[in-house]
Amino acid sequence: DERRISFAVKDLSVDFNGFKAVNGMNLSVYKGELRVLLGANGAGKTTLMDLISGRTKSTGGKVLLNDKEITNWEEHLISRAGIGRKFQIPNVFKELTVRQNFLIADCKETRVLPNIVRGSHRELPDHIARVVELTELYDFLGTEAATLSHGQTQWLEIGMLLVQNPDIILLDEPTAGMTAHETRKTAEIITRLKGRHTILVVEHDMAFVRSICETITVMHHGQNLAEGTVTEIENSAEVQAAYLGSA
Ligand code: ATP
Repeated sequence: DERRISFAVKDLSVDFNGFKAVNGMNLSVYKGELRVLLGANGAGKTTLMDLISGRTKSTGGKVLLNDKEITNWEEHLISRAGIGRKFQIPNVFKELTVRQNFLIADCKETRVLPNIVRGSHRELPDHIARVVELTELYDFLGTEAATLSHGQTQWLEIGMLLVQNPDIILLDEPTAGMTAHETRKTAEIITRLKGRHTILVVEHDMAFVRSICETITVMHHGQNLAEGTVTEIENSAEVQAAYLGSA
């Protein structure tokens, strides 16, 4: 395979007082790929993202970013190295406008924060304008984040991640709680990100997974159980026994 690996985990494990939530996980994701991570509740998907992003420290194995080992680096250093993370629960500044949220996400200089909040930053830089367009939040730039719909709040948070231009984006159940229409729009947004970013997305909604139609990795008991296309995974007896049968 000629494609280059963006990030990988090798025999990765974490031991929570004797319980191995991730237990010898192996995974390689190619540059620009959109990879879906599937697995039953408790399979270890969120913990795997915690390990990759440095939120949780591993007790065995390795995490590699562009062939360089980043195992157990501090979370902010992993973030600076280009791995962005979105959690299940949206994390936006509710009392600020959409515009202010985007500007703060872009802001590496905390000294200008008061200016952003007072609104003296009028012009949106091009890279933010592009993200506003992608997330279809243009008409809501002046809206207080607290009043956005659930879907818009999720897109704002994805957008806040994107303005930092991470190489890798980890998304934990981005469509949780969304309407069918919001889910379709999220699929469109995520599909437009691939190529430019490498994406690992945890998702339970099979209609969503089919619509983004990518390689799936199935996690089971903290390990990589199977990989393949949507059809391969849906027709795998092993996966059905371990996951789909119990879902
Ligand atoms: P879900 O789909 O429910 O989010 P998941 O595949 O993301 O499931 P994890 O959240 O990674 O699964 O959890 C895997 C297992 O590890 C669960 O049994 C969970 O209770 C356990 N676990 C997670 N974090 C800790 C911790 N800090 N201490 C002890 N056990 C933990």
